[in-house]
Amino acid sequence: METTSTSILKGGEFLLREADPESVFCPEDFNEEQIMLRKSVRDFLNKEVESRHELFDGPKGRELAPGLLEQMGEMGFLGIGVPEEYGGFEADFVTQLAFGEIAYASWAFGLSIGVQTSLGVAPLLLYGNAEQKAKYLPGIVSAEIKSCYCLTEPGAGSDANSGKTQAVYSDDRSHFILNGQKMWITSSGHADLFFVFAKIEDDKNLSCFIVEKGYGGIRLGAEEKKMGIKGSSTRQVFFENVPVPVENLLGERQQGFKIALNVLNTGRIKMATSVTGTAKRALDYGLNYALERVQFGRPIAQFGAIQHKIGEMVARIYAMESLAYRTGGHIDRMHDEMVHEGMDPLDAKFKSIAEFATECAMAKVFNTEGEDFVVDESLQMHGGMGYSAETPIETMYRNARIDRIYEGTNEINRMLTVDMLLRRALKGKLDLMSRGMAVMQDFQAGKVVRKPASDSFADQCLTGIANLKRAALLVAMSASQKLMQQLEEEQEVLMHVADMLMQIYAAESAVLRTLKQSGGEDYELRQAISRLVLYRAAETCQDAGQEALLGFAEGAELEALLDAVEQLTRVGHFNTKALRRQVAEAAITRKGYPIG
Ligand SMILES: Cc1cc2nc3c(=O)[nH]c(=O)nc-3n(C[C@H](O)[C@H](O)[C@H](O)COP(=O)(O)OP(=O)(O)OC[C@H]3O[C@@H](n4cnc5c(N)ncnc54)[C@H](O)[C@@H]3O)c2cc1C
Repeated sequence: METTSTSILKGGEFLLREADPESVFCPEDFNEEQIMLRKSVRDFLNKEVESRHELFDGPKGRELAPGLLEQMGEMGFLGIGVPEEYGGFEADFVTQLAFGEIAYASWAFGLSIGVQTSLGVAPLLLYGNAEQKAKYLPGIVSAEIKSCYCLTEPGAGSDANSGKTQAVYSDDRSHFILNGQKMWITSSGHADLFFVFAKIEDDKNLSCFIVEKGYGGIRLGAEEKKMGIKGSSTRQVFFENVPVPVENLLGERQQGFKIALNVLNTGRIKMATSVTGTAKRALDYGLNYALERVQFGRPIAQFGAIQHKIGEMVARIYAMESLAYRTGGHIDRMHDEMVHEGMDPLDAKFKSIAEFATECAMAKVFNTEGEDFVVDESLQMHGGMGYSAETPIETMYRNARIDRIYEGTNEINRMLTVDMLLRRALKGKLDLMSRGMAVMQDFQAGKVVRKPASDSFADQCLTGIANLKRAALLVAMSASQKLMQQLEEEQEVLMHVADMLMQIYAAESAVLRTLKQSGGEDYELRQAISRLVLYRAAETCQDAGQEALLGFAEGAELEALLDAVEQLTRVGHFNTKALRRQVAEAAITRKGYPIG
């Protein structure tokens, strides 16, 4: 396989090429400014939210949110993605992720920050004209204007383009008259500005509008009674003959669905770091409880069953961090290269994010499921106390559950992962077919499995990952040859392939990050963690790959393919018990996530 030491990895190419560890961004690469920004936002949130986080599990949190946003505005935090000319400090993408890991993970208040700095500003940043930006961005940055994002309707959730909200021209064509109903709108209770997706007249596709509350005709439903994130406002929004000036159409007519998709791409990868922040906090709670709770005469942290959990939790978090920041780094590098080649910086901004839409979708799924895994295991470590509404982990458990549902459900994102890769291949942007055919030929010649050149960590892990990629290509190519046009309807197969892809991307990101820290003080610990990540990836790839094959292949061909996947997903014999204990010991000694 080629390496990417000189050229930038493009979207989806992780599957076809081997990356140079030096080419991936990881949290160890944060610069002084990024570290300082994280510290100052953490200090603010520790004081204002963490110290009274119970309030953000109820209506009081919703009352506090607008004032806290204004304080954050005064301190300049809300300008993170906004150009200086509009009052912001436009940080690069990695910095935005690093900020979000702290800010968006701040209990239910994190959602208010998320909307104000991401969903509720990105449509304007990416598609607004100069007048629209000048009119609204400074107010959003200071939080004098609080915004929300209105896409979902009672009858249009995953199928967002089927929405019924409609805008018709007024008689003098100076305004649109907006009518319709939106549902589940975060921050709507305190919003002054609504980004509303609606169809103009009888259009097939959505358009997007900037709608001020002051226009009149906007009515809010009651606060939804939710399982978690109770301190975040979520309401229905009714638009009843709202007069919207024609100049408040955002972007072009019928461009709304594209706007929604591009905004969601950025939201997905930002979610990937925010849920990593939550998972780290859940690990801390679990660890501290396990150190204090004594049963059978010992702190429960000393039991192998608990250390197994701790080892797995740390490994999952390491993979989540590695994959999310790697993706952010790819986006920044692609952006810089496009600008260097003369592209307008704004075009470069959303083209670089769109380029890595597959990775953003995978990061959303892998990390939200990782978050749920870690939070759930932490709750389990608390025993009965985990089930008590008195413990923070109980709140966290309820709060975390939404993350697999919004910003595109994890089912939709799994399907998108494969769909977007195939589309890139069809457009000639990704050499999937010839690489897939080469793997098929190797399979037919009985030489599909690669052997490591030595038993070094690098050789073993990188060869293991190369074999997992071959397994994924083998399954995907066999499925597309066998099912052809029906593939789209075989969602179960697509979901299995998506599972393989995201495990491979996560494991490779973890291993490359470890190799980049080669020789550093935690190198041995990082190797242990990475081996655990790889082991889990191989196990999932075997299971998903074989189940996919059982769904469409038959007879001798099925037997041969099952056998090949079995061989390709053998990544060496690790003593996983010893590795987990080693990792757990490090976390116990440091009383928290042991890396960084
Ligand atoms: C607390 C909260 C806050 C939210 N905030 C916002 C917000 O600020 N703005 C906004 O616009 N929206 C918001 N949403 C809406 C959210 O984005 C949607 O709930 C989500 O997109 C899913 O849509 P749905 O609920 O209609 O589920 P549905 O689309 O009805 O899906 C139901 C199930 O069917 C599956 N499914 C659907 N279609 C397919 C398919 N083609 N193939 C396979 N499976 C499928 C889904 O994966 C899911 O498991 C929020 C939701 C909640 C709960």
